[in-house]
Amino acid sequence: MTTLVKKQKRNVYDNVIRQFNKAADIIGLDDSISKILRSTNNEITVHFPVKMDDGRIEIFTGYRVQHNNTLGPYKGGLRFHPNVELNEVRALATWMTWKSAITDIPFGGSKGGIQIDPGKYSITELERITRRFTYALGNNIGPDYDIPAPDVNTNGQIMAWLLDTYLSTIPPQERQGNIHVVTGKPVESGGSLGRDKATGQGVVFCIQEWAKDNDFDLKGATYIVQGFGKVGSWAARLMKELGAKLVAVEDVTGAIANPDGIDADDLASYVKDLGGSAGYLHSEPINHVEFMQTHCDIFIPAALENQITAETAPYLNVKLVAEGANGPTDPDGDSILADRDIALIPDILCNSGGVIVSYFEWLQNKHSEYWELDEVDCKLKKKIVKAYSHVREVAEEYHTDWRTAAYIVALMRLEIVYKERGIFP
Ligand code: NAD
Repeated sequence: MTTLVKKQKRNVYDNVIRQFNKAADIIGLDDSISKILRSTNNEITVHFPVKMDDGRIEIFTGYRVQHNNTLGPYKGGLRFHPNVELNEVRALATWMTWKSAITDIPFGGSKGGIQIDPGKYSITELERITRRFTYALGNNIGPDYDIPAPDVNTNGQIMAWLLDTYLSTIPPQERQGNIHVVTGKPVESGGSLGRDKATGQGVVFCIQEWAKDNDFDLKGATYIVQGFGKVGSWAARLMKELGAKLVAVEDVTGAIANPDGIDADDLASYVKDLGGSAGYLHSEPINHVEFMQTHCDIFIPAALENQITAETAPYLNVKLVAEGANGPTDPDGDSILADRDIALIPDILCNSGGVIVSYFEWLQNKHSEYWELDEVDCKLKKKIVKAYSHVREVAEEYHTDWRTAAYIVALMRLEIVYKERGIFP
């Protein structure tokens, strides 16, 4: 497990630039536009004091990086994790810009987080940390400016505290009209039906498209999932509905396997109660290398960055990697997967279901509407399948890999808008 955490710490922003340069070279992206898109617009670092339960004051460091808002308000999650640092947040913000561009939604890209191990704090401390961070961000977030959402170790409850704090700082007459300052809220507080499963659902819609394209039967197919949180557990449960068999899972508590199948719903309730998959009865513990070597059809990484690298990509025994996480494969890992003929649905396409349904939540809030679950699912499917087909066409047209094709789709869309608008003054 230490190896895994160590790998994740490499500078992921270098990965973004390497991915970007490859696509920009292929399409001959305008140099000026390339310069703009390779840098972030704003990088906000805040240090803020919070009173702990025992009366002590601790100082926390939080970030919000706003990469680009050419296509719409900045949009991106908030992560609470000890490894959160500026380069990671930069990378995550930049991927958000590409994601919105690929899926054709009117958002830009941003990301934020607090460098913190949330497990070390009580629920009341976490509430005060979240509220004080929101207060420190002040006008740097806003419903038509920059809209946070959940990410690693954050959830609907944290979004509800953020919402309440933001609304408390604006005039009372404006509060009802501003609940779209954050998405991924609990449904009762203005969230959308289907947002909790949206990212996992999007991953599974992409896998279904890949299966159709490759004449592959998902019924009886085997899969493994790394990260059994919001994204991984939903993807696993929805794969189960299609008749696929989950054979191994890895999370921060360790890895488990059962070649006869692990019940994803049962494991999800176990993880909810006990905080991790370690010790799950109907399985055997395995180590990280054994997990990565599991022989199966599909690998869904849904944890952290830099998991599939020059060291680990040679281990994989799968046909498809469907990236639920952001940045799980680095450029060296990409080359090895390509050489080994392992297909890949890249993060900026595969996990875009989250931002798509966040956009639906934002629209519902703006219009004071509540959509039915089947309406949300149906619109999500339409959008992600369209994006998937577009990336496939571009990959064929440019004879390139799917990640580069996804970048090409995003960069071309942004290039058109920059050329239309020009650069002020
Ligand atoms: P989460 O906090 O709900 O779950 C994270 C999971 O990763 C947990 O199961 C945790 O145990 C596991 N994990 C953490 N460190 C690990 C390690 N070192 N080794 C193995 N497992 C580890 O987070 P999430 O929201 O499910 O996000 C997971 C990934 O998906 C992240 O890369 C995130 O940026 C990406 N993502 C999330 C969303 C969303 O809507 N939540 C949308 C798009 C992309």
